Amino acid sequence: MDSPLPPAAIKRLGQNFLVDPNIVRKIVSLAELTPTDTVLEIGPGRGILTEALCRAAGHVTAIEVDPRLHAYLTGQQRGLSNLTLVLADAMTYPIEHLPIGTIVVANLPYYLSTPLLFRLLNQHNRFHRLILMLQNEVADRLVAKPGSSAYGALSVMAQYTADITKAFKVSGQCFRPRPEVGSAVVLLRARKQGDLKPEEESRLATLVKAAFAHRRKTLANSLRDKGYDQKLVAAALNSLHIPLSARGEVLSITQFIELTRHLYGGFSSLRH
Ligand code: SAM
Repeated sequence: MDSPLPPAAIKRLGQNFLVDPNIVRKIVSLAELTPTDTVLEIGPGRGILTEALCRAAGHVTAIEVDPRLHAYLTGQQRGLSNLTLVLADAMTYPIEHLPIGTIVVANLPYYLSTPLLFRLLNQHNRFHRLILMLQNEVADRLVAKPGSSAYGALSVMAQYTADITKAFKVSGQCFRPRPEVGSAVVLLRARKQGDLKPEEESRLATLVKAAFAHRRKTLANSLRDKGYDQKLVAAALNSLHIPLSARGEVLSITQFIELTRHLYGGFSSLRH
């Protein structure tokens, strides 16, 4: 009997399917999987990566939001006994229930890559490493250094939680349909447990988001607009020798941590 045709791509769900087995091999090799590893795949699509992951890892959980693709994959799943296929939205699926040490490998839907990244980074103590296909522009933001135009809240929070390498670019020809933007694969290796407690990390994240909310404004004005006490901010900047006229994009991660410490007081130790 002929196998059923895979469902057609839906643009609004970021369905640009990989069709190049070489790129699949490169992604799986970068993930350095062993038969005891647990993998989370977001958006298995037509399953080209899923199948390779199931061959290399101990167990794969694959979360797909499109019921047509979920049904198609369920039909193709025979022989993949180590695959748990879930019909769910990766933005609401309880990733905090996955085992500690899970490795995330995904060709992410580009329309959702930044919120998904923030969600995954928030669980950086759970995921040992993440191997992700992203828009090239988002990959550049992940590795951007202070002072560059790509440096923003995503750069700070990602580099706070992980050591990041932009591994390789991927040509549009490797997908069907071709994405409208360039693509790249990044490797994020989570650092050991942070020195900041979870509530301190969430204060850092709030401050960093506020600092980059209006890139044209000074840091002091951006923070004031988000409700931070103006005098406290001025005093904190002064004691950190950061000019009042500075913008958020010039601060290093260390300086953001120090600033959070000054504004809230009492962080125990600092890692950077
Ligand atoms: N992994 C496949 C590949 O490499 O060919 C498909 C990758 S495609 C770029 C992104 C996949 O994510 C699609 O299958 C899409 O349906 C799925 N997707 C989109 N939004 C999602 C969401 N919120 N939660 C889970 N999957 C989602």
